[in-house]
Amino acid sequence: MTTPPPMSLLAELTHRCPLQCPYCSNPLRLDTRAAELDTATWCRVMDEAAIMGVLQVHFSGGEPMARSDLPDLVRHAAGVGLYSNLITSGVLLNPASLAALADAGLDHIQLSFQDALPDPGDRVANMTGAHAKKLEAARLIVAEGIPLTLNFVVHRQNAERVPAMLLLAEQLGARRVEIAHTQYYGWGLLNRDALLPDRAQLALTEQAVAEARTRLAGRMTIDFVTPDYYAEEPKPCMGGWGQRFMNVSPTGRVLPCHAAESIPNVEFPSVAETSLADIWENAPLFTMFRGTDWMPEPCRSCSAQTQDWGGCRCQALALAGKAGAADPVCHKAPDHGIVERAIAARPETPPAFRYRRYGSA
Ligand code: SF4
Ligand code: SF4
Repeated sequence: MTTPPPMSLLAELTHRCPLQCPYCSNPLRLDTRAAELDTATWCRVMDEAAIMGVLQVHFSGGEPMARSDLPDLVRHAAGVGLYSNLITSGVLLNPASLAALADAGLDHIQLSFQDALPDPGDRVANMTGAHAKKLEAARLIVAEGIPLTLNFVVHRQNAERVPAMLLLAEQLGARRVEIAHTQYYGWGLLNRDALLPDRAQLALTEQAVAEARTRLAGRMTIDFVTPDYYAEEPKPCMGGWGQRFMNVSPTGRVLPCHAAESIPNVEFPSVAETSLADIWENAPLFTMFRGTDWMPEPCRSCSAQTQDWGGCRCQALALAGKAGAADPVCHKAPDHGIVERAIAARPETPPAFRYRRYGSA
């Protein structure tokens, strides 16, 4: 293999989820339960990943705990030497299901919260009692001794509570917390007017994170993901297209990122047809935006090209209609006006959420 292997495999086990977050990272068209890969195929995928040199597997969804074979998959990951991380909403977690995962060798849990408070949290998840279940899940995880990261997705309807989110993470005994502004593609783009903060709210969140980093230095790691729309330059999406991550969808499509199913005019490779190593090395979907050869101006002559890799391909497609364009969030991109106009058109009052409903998308 001439391309260095990916560091991580993102195993999207299912799109099923009892929650309905309006910023969900899943595609707008959700995979059905009947089409999901079976246990044996997921185990083979992990075997292939380990042989390639992948170090970590992230079990994600949807809600990965909706899969009854999750402990078997975790045990298999441990058996082939993959560090396992479970990304969960926590609402299906209970003492018995957690004990099964711990016994199988689960290394880490990332627990998502919609807010620091129950009512607004339950409103975003569109599930009464979800927040209370998450609090209980966090306590169980810490008591079990599994390292815990909390994830909070930030937007215009909860930005003022970032200090409370950081306090909650500290009180619950998380080792790490991620304060991540919403990314605006897929469901997030559909709900952009209901979610996009203003600059003052962004500044509040930046200040809260800076203060907490000082106060909690050495005790809790705080990751902060800023909203692309107010950045001068884009993020290095997935650490560069086809460079660090491999995403396998519930039905076995292999993608450079979870949103890449939106890319037009390209075949989506599948674990049913060929090996992960062959897909990583040769599939056009992976090679088409890898490195810098594909870049148009202004990226082609930009000194940041190997830092941000031209930004997000799916965002370029969603906003500018061209996956091969410079990410419009970049202030040098010819399509940057699209982002400026979206900010200017942000309504004073947020519209109602369009919830991500499994089965009705
Ligand atoms: S973002 Fe919300 S709806 Fe989407 S998978 Fe996560 S918990 Fe479920
Ligand atoms: S021009 Fe391209 S490479 Fe340069 S900062 Fe903007 S998106 Fe990144």
